[in-house]
Amino acid sequence: MSFSGKVVIVTGASSGIGAAAAVMFCKEGASVALVGRNEKKLMDVSKKCSIVGGKHIIIKADVSNDEDAKRIISETIMKFGQLDVLVNNAGITGFASVLEGTVLETYDKIMKINLWAVYGPPAAPHLVKTKGNIVNVSSIVSSMVADINASAYCCSKAGVNIFTQSTAAELASFGVRVNAISPGPVVTDIYDNAGVTPDVVFDIKTPLGRVSQSEEIADLILYLASDKAKGITGSNIVSDNGCMLHMLK
Ligand code: NDP
Repeated sequence: MSFSGKVVIVTGASSGIGAAAAVMFCKEGASVALVGRNEKKLMDVSKKCSIVGGKHIIIKADVSNDEDAKRIISETIMKFGQLDVLVNNAGITGFASVLEGTVLETYDKIMKINLWAVYGPPAAPHLVKTKGNIVNVSSIVSSMVADINASAYCCSKAGVNIFTQSTAAELASFGVRVNAISPGPVVTDIYDNAGVTPDVVFDIKTPLGRVSQSEEIADLILYLASDKAKGITGSNIVSDNGCMLHMLK
């Protein structure tokens, strides 16, 4: 899966799945733009990228900010001259109760980061030039399976799923592929950041008796972004240790 000569943007590259994907793209020879807000964490990932090789830049940006969304693309093009792969990975979760009327407090923030930011960056014209592709990081908790007190998160990821399909349909005739991946629980900081004890999540009994690490989800991102997946567009690949089977039982 060589990405030599390819230019890749990974949003949410400062942590978890995005950090793992950024390092792997660098290892495979890509030039990578690492996007996130936390400069210290971005620097830590940058050090790992330097060790494995490949060129990279840090773009400190908030994907939910209109100007930043444009700057992510323009700085990448200015530095590397092209764009081959956009990984829309940045995301947050948040829990709120419809019964208690607290959903709207989190709705705008979650939708702006998880869904608007996937629409936002003006990447398509650059991807048409390179016949590149987009990988959107969705979730099984979306239009696939609901979760209690997570209606805003579910709506945002359900939006990502149908956006993936409709964009894939629009861009296919230009040779641009658009796919999504839907992980089940992955050991990352996302739960801590939402004020949820990770143990609650990681104690989930999946049919395979395990939860995923970021690297295995990153593997899937690289596969979909690579020429090995040249016939795959509009797909949403699940990697959940059989979690949905369990939930649907
Ligand atoms: P982490 O919390 O480890 O990483 C989230 C990343 O998103 C961070 O790099 C963070 O960077 C970035 N981010 C958040 N908000 C913004 C923003 N406004 N602008 C720029 N970057 C932002 O979580 P994960 O790695 O788990 O999450 C990655 C994706 O995977 C998300 O889309 C999530 O919904 C999805 N996912 C995760 C699952 C899990 O169980 N972990 C399961 C299913 C899907 P910074 O703080 O530097 O801005």
